[in-house]
Amino acid sequence: MPTNLHYSVTPVPLRHIFQVRLHIPLNPASETTGLILQLPNWIAGSYMIRDFARHIVRIGASDEHGEAVALTPLSQYSWQSAPCAGALTVVYEVFAHDTSVRTAFLDGDGGFFNATSLCLQVQGLNMVAHHLTLNAPEGNTNWQVATTLPRVDGCFSHDFGDFVAANYDELADHPIRFGELTWLSFHAHGVLHEVALAGHLPYLDVPRLSADVQRICEAQLALFEPDQPARAPFKRYLFMVDVRASGYGGLEHRDSTALLCERADLPMLAQSEQPRSDAYIVFLGLCSHEYFHTWNVKRIKPATFVYYDFSQVIDTSLLWFFEGVTSYYDDLIMYRTGLLDETQYLKKLENCYNAVVQHDGVNVQTAHESGWYAWTKYYQVSPNTPNAVVSYYSKGALIALAMDLFIREHSAGRFSLDDVMRDLWTWFGRDFYALYPQGLARGVTEADIVASVSHFAGTDSRDFFNQALHSTDALPLREALGKLGVTLSEPKNSVAQLGATSKKVDGGWQIQRVLNNSAAQNAGLAPDDVLLTFDRIRLNAAPDDVLARINIGAQVTAHFLRDDVLHDTTLINSPAPHGVYALSLSEGHTQVFNKTA
Ligand SMILES: [Zn+2]
Repeated sequence: MPTNLHYSVTPVPLRHIFQVRLHIPLNPASETTGLILQLPNWIAGSYMIRDFARHIVRIGASDEHGEAVALTPLSQYSWQSAPCAGALTVVYEVFAHDTSVRTAFLDGDGGFFNATSLCLQVQGLNMVAHHLTLNAPEGNTNWQVATTLPRVDGCFSHDFGDFVAANYDELADHPIRFGELTWLSFHAHGVLHEVALAGHLPYLDVPRLSADVQRICEAQLALFEPDQPARAPFKRYLFMVDVRASGYGGLEHRDSTALLCERADLPMLAQSEQPRSDAYIVFLGLCSHEYFHTWNVKRIKPATFVYYDFSQVIDTSLLWFFEGVTSYYDDLIMYRTGLLDETQYLKKLENCYNAVVQHDGVNVQTAHESGWYAWTKYYQVSPNTPNAVVSYYSKGALIALAMDLFIREHSAGRFSLDDVMRDLWTWFGRDFYALYPQGLARGVTEADIVASVSHFAGTDSRDFFNQALHSTDALPLREALGKLGVTLSEPKNSVAQLGATSKKVDGGWQIQRVLNNSAAQNAGLAPDDVLLTFDRIRLNAAPDDVLARINIGAQVTAHFLRDDVLHDTTLINSPAPHGVYALSLSEGHTQVFNKTA
């Protein structure tokens, strides 16, 4: 009796609709109680309930004779079929017009989807093979397909056709992009890597982009598998890049990543002799970040991520490790490969440090809480976010830095965080997908991380982690950095700041978020106020730029609109409430301590 599920997906670009036909073979449950079908509510790597099922336009089912089978809604995202003999076919349409990397998109230029947006799960059958046929839309003869989802025939191609995943989790972890694509390819430690770019891309500097991404990949492969040539955890790797006028984002998958960037981020042929632009460095950092996730979160996983429950919120309290350590290494790998020099790398660390300590959220939320509440706080930004939330990316990266320093100092330079990553890789990551089908895959707990750090540091690290993860105390960075040749300055309070973020609008600057104890808050400015003038002069530049030219302590008269009514207030020109910190190499040091393992 065949048990495989089969999805046939047909894009209808004009309507931004994917038509899906799901064939479920004869199943004991379908004859007795009926089958329960459900669409995920969230996607791995993005921790927010997104109600993907709201994009299902219509849904119906039939038996193998073509007779209609009733589908009873059980919730906003699940249905139960009436009992029927034989196979069941479910036909539905999904609207797809979201350019983010998290869902699905389709128009006359191409398309993209994650299975979590398109493929219903059949309760009880998550571990059977899931076949998917992607049909070419009518009339688009030059469209190609980019995905790492395995093909039924085992061949390597860029054509539409038949794919198969061993289970639903695998299906959900290989998104598919199609359209007119620009391809780059290179080998890293002998393994094929492809970059598939969608979007209008004249004059792209293909050699530079290939060479730079290749350096990142080779360094990361060698970090986790130092024996040469490094053993890759995949047969091939794919960067899917959606290049648009605006936008930014990335989502990690086990053998690929889906990226969104701006046209201006990518290197152009005419600039091939010039230094890499800041925007391009940020793009390379995004590639580095998502690629690092191949190991850290796609194979070394939190214990609560091993067998996902896509129907509801799950425990994400270890995100400080899985996003923070990944953020620490994305820049560090760029530094180790020479894509960032000492000055650029220290500036990145300095920006990360300031981003954390300048907001009151760091005094309110612990790193553990930041991950736990990701679903409702970090992912659901409010005007009060900087005062209430600390980012598990940035704080996590600082914790990773502190861990690296802790291990290096206590082991007298014999070991580093690299050794912890390889240790976790060996015990939890390398065989993860080999063990997954038997239900034997294991995930990491906080205790596993603490034990590994203690092992390589040669000392008990529990107090270090209790403070770093479960308190809002400042991380012990200044002294530890100083011992290894990096100076963290005392906070500077010499530059005036409004203490609020704002955006340019017609006639002025609209306040978005107001920091606690800032000049803006003390003057009574609030989110949505539109600042018009300081001392009766129109704000032709950003408020911070104007205030920087005025003495600290000066009383500035500010006029602003609140709900279209003119208001005024007196603003005491003040520095940022928590000061600004700087990082530099200490005298006698020419490179940052973590340049080498
Ligand atoms: Zn990440």
